[in-house]
Amino acid sequence: MNDRVLIVGSVALDDIKTPWTEEKNLLGGSAVYGSIAASQFAGVDIVGVIGDDFPAEHLDLLKRSGVNIDGVESQAGKTFHWGGEYHQNMNDRTTHFTELGVFAEFMPKIPASYREDGFVFLANIDPDLQLKVLDQVKKPRLTLLDTMNLWINIKRETLVEVIKRVDALMINEEEANLLFPSPSQADSAGKLLDLGLGRVIIKKGSNGAQMFSREGTFAVPALPLKDVKDPTGAGDTFTGGLIGYLAGCGRCGEGASPADVDMAFRQAMLVGSACASYVVEDFSTRRINTLTHDKIKERVGQLYAAIQCEPVKLKK
Ligand code: AMP
Repeated sequence: MNDRVLIVGSVALDDIKTPWTEEKNLLGGSAVYGSIAASQFAGVDIVGVIGDDFPAEHLDLLKRSGVNIDGVESQAGKTFHWGGEYHQNMNDRTTHFTELGVFAEFMPKIPASYREDGFVFLANIDPDLQLKVLDQVKKPRLTLLDTMNLWINIKRETLVEVIKRVDALMINEEEANLLFPSPSQADSAGKLLDLGLGRVIIKKGSNGAQMFSREGTFAVPALPLKDVKDPTGAGDTFTGGLIGYLAGCGRCGEGASPADVDMAFRQAMLVGSACASYVVEDFSTRRINTLTHDKIKERVGQLYAAIQCEPVKLKK
C-alpha cells in the first residue's frame, strides 16, 4: 500500500452561465477538480474517459499538476458535456443539459500500477461502477465516496451497498435528507453512520461543511468571499484537498488511532475549505491551477481565525 490518491470520476467539458457572464467548453468534471486539488499534497492517479474532442491542452494541464493520467481512456466520440446555470445567490443552480457521450459506456479499468494506492476517492459516478472500482483495488487505508441525487433516486440499493464498503461519505444537505429524510441533519447523519461508515461529511456550499463520526462532530466554515465567479467543482475541490492532505500528512497509516484519524480529518476539512475558496473565484480550474502551499496556508489561517476564541468563562 502506498500514499498515493486514486480518483475515479467524470472528466468533462462544461458550459457555465452565471447572472453576469457565460463560458463554454470549459475543463470540468469531478475527477478533474478533485485531482488538481489533491495533487498539492500527494501523488494522484486519475481514472476517467474522454472523447476525441477533448483538447490536448487540458491533459497537459493535468500532467503539469503532477497528476498521472495513464488511467484516462480516450474513446471515439464526444466527451461528457454538462451545462449549468447559477441563480442570483450563486448557491442554487439549474442543470440545462447532461450529454453523456463516451461517459455512457464508461467501465472503469484501474491500471495495475494504481491498485496499491492507499487513498481512494470515488467521485460522483454510477454506484454500480463505484462497486467495480472497489473490486479492483487492493486494500486502501481510506475510501471516500461522493454521489448525487440522481443515484439516490434511481439506484438507492446499490448506493447503500457502496456506502457499506467505504470509510467516509461526502454528501450535501439535500442528498443526506433524500437518503434518510429527517428534520434533523444529525439524525440523517446518524442513520448513515449506522450503515457502517466511519464518518459522514455534509457539504453546505457557502455555509461550509460538518463532519459526523463516533468521535464527535466538527464544523468548518466556508470563507466569506466578496467575489464568487463560478462555484462549479467546489465540492470536488474540497474533497480533493481533503483526501490529498490525509494522504500526505502521515497520520492515517497502519496503527493510527481513531483519535489520530479524527484529528487528521479535522485539519483536512480546513485544507479542503481553503482549496474550495480558491476554485470559486474564477471559472473552471483556472484559479486552482496556480495554487501553492503559501496560498493554501494563508486561507487556512483565515479559517482558523474565523473559528477560534478564548475559552468561555462562566461564573458558576
Ligand atoms: P459540483 O459543482 O461539485 O457538483 O461538480 C461539478 C462538476 O460535476 C462539473 O464539472 C460537471 O462536469 C460534473 N458533473 C455534472 N453532472 C454530472 C454527472 N451526472 N456525473 C458526473 N459528473 C457530473
